[in-house]
Amino acid sequence: MALITVSGYPSSGKSQRAAQIKQHIEARLEDPSYVGPSLSVVVLDDGTLNIDRSSYNDSRSEKTARGTLFTAVQRNLAQNKVVIVDSLNYIKGFRYQMCCAARELKVRVCTVYVLAMPDLCKQWNSERTDGKAYAPETLANLLQRYEEPSSMVRWDSPLFTVSWTDEDVPADGIWRAITEGIMKPPNTGT
Ligand code: ADP
Repeated sequence: MALITVSGYPSSGKSQRAAQIKQHIEARLEDPSYVGPSLSVVVLDDGTLNIDRSSYNDSRSEKTARGTLFTAVQRNLAQNKVVIVDSLNYIKGFRYQMCCAARELKVRVCTVYVLAMPDLCKQWNSERTDGKAYAPETLANLLQRYEEPSSMVRWDSPLFTVSWTDEDVPADGIWRAITEGIMKPPNTGT
């Protein structure tokens, strides 16, 4: 039914935001005023797919990791599911590929860009106690290669940006994007 792609620097807070998005969507689905189809919300992340952080240490294992993620996305996309992809999703072409797979199945899409300054990501990464820290050189490399999402390209649209200072995710906009389809950017006049 919908594909929500979460993208952002390593250790920028993507998993926290993915959890917030899931919570909001589930709350709306459980609300008595919701009269739409019965849907389940699935989060696909590196951990559940057994993609270790070290996979991002070199381009070959990284390619395998992306393949694993893409296969999982394809397998999960369905009319009765909201799929949240909580991974780096930092390659433009990969986001395009996921978007095409979703469109093929007439699944709505949106992208959530989790924004935090590189120094903050480095700090949060070094403070991690969950065993999910990236090696410092891998983190530096990923920061450098990160391809920022853009609302100007259709595969990243509609695009929601969440800054590290935001308490919460833009739940209303995300909900409308996945239940009503792509929102026109404001002030287009058409
Ligand atoms: P990612 O999924 O991008 O790797 P996580 O959501 O797992 O990031 O968060 C990485 C670390 O950064 C965690 O230890 C988390 O507590 C911390 N963190 C994330 N977002 C914030 C924030 N907005 N403020 C403070 N700490 C944060």
